[in-house]
Amino acid sequence: MLREHVIRLPRMVVVGQDIIDNIPVYLKDLRAKEPILIVTGPHVFNIVANRVLEIIKDYYINAKYVIVEKASIDEANKVLEKISSLRPQTVIGIGGGKSIDIAKYVSSKIGARFISVPTSASHDGIASPFASLKGSGRATSFRAVVPDAIIADVELISKAPKRLLRAGVGDIIAKFTAVADWRLSHKLRGEYYGEYAASLALLSAKHIVSFIDEISRFSTEGVRILVEALVSSGIAMCIAGSTRPASGSEHLFSHALDMIAPKPALHGEQVGVGTIMMSYLHGMKWSRIKRVLKRVGAPTTAHELGIPDKYIIEALLIAPRIRPERYTILGEKGLTREAAIELAKITGVIE
Ligand SMILES: [Zn+2]
Repeated sequence: MLREHVIRLPRMVVVGQDIIDNIPVYLKDLRAKEPILIVTGPHVFNIVANRVLEIIKDYYINAKYVIVEKASIDEANKVLEKISSLRPQTVIGIGGGKSIDIAKYVSSKIGARFISVPTSASHDGIASPFASLKGSGRATSFRAVVPDAIIADVELISKAPKRLLRAGVGDIIAKFTAVADWRLSHKLRGEYYGEYAASLALLSAKHIVSFIDEISRFSTEGVRILVEALVSSGIAMCIAGSTRPASGSEHLFSHALDMIAPKPALHGEQVGVGTIMMSYLHGMKWSRIKRVLKRVGAPTTAHELGIPDKYIIEALLIAPRIRPERYTILGEKGLTREAAIELAKITGVIE
């Protein structure tokens, strides 16, 4: 029985072209407080974050930056140490996954407001309240803080490598199986299920399918559609209060690959291939999922992921154990080896 369900949402979402220089205006609008800390990567610092910092300094006296190299708890703790005397009130993550995850984590630890400025559109973490950091003792993500604002410059994002945008399509198409898994768990386990959050997540996946031709051109318009879908999916997680609407068996498969594959592919790429297989198990039109991924040039096979077949099978087998409390189509015990091989073969993921 649901007694209370608290929903925290971003206060501002800006999606536009060449808006990066307007960041101080949005900060003022949000009444963002100093000190301001920018968390970014070395490459993004050179191409954009450096400039953003200079512009912010025209409006705010106390603005600093830190450069992060990887998305790990160790790295995040180093940042916390470095900024202990600064005590930032506002933390801006500028970058792809790493910087945004670390900025989110740091914000939640120090009680600062978090602003997400994605420079690529490869996953829905850009708008979600969950951070995924290696070494956190969990293979999956954990609750951090809802972004106070998401500021997405599609012009900037469209310049990111195409591979990242393709991965973004994989992370969005995953909502079909993630929501199906959530429904299943609700029916079989009585798990809380929020129809509105589920519908919003599904909408983002359907939206991508409807506009796949535009997205496959990687036009500014296509990138805008992709970014909006990723933001919607992040907001679906805010509404659900969990990653449930955005992450099911296809994500467990990807997390398993991250653990065992010598050279894992991108999150969204692995999740996309996982979605092909899990949609088969759900009795959905899996070949349609595959077509959508192919249309944008995203990987649909083990070979295209650059991962040997045996790891695909192994990941299918261990997936249900990654997060046992998350019930999915894989059940509690998971697939038998024969069934896993059959599944990967039928869907053309392995030969
Ligand atoms: Zn994801």
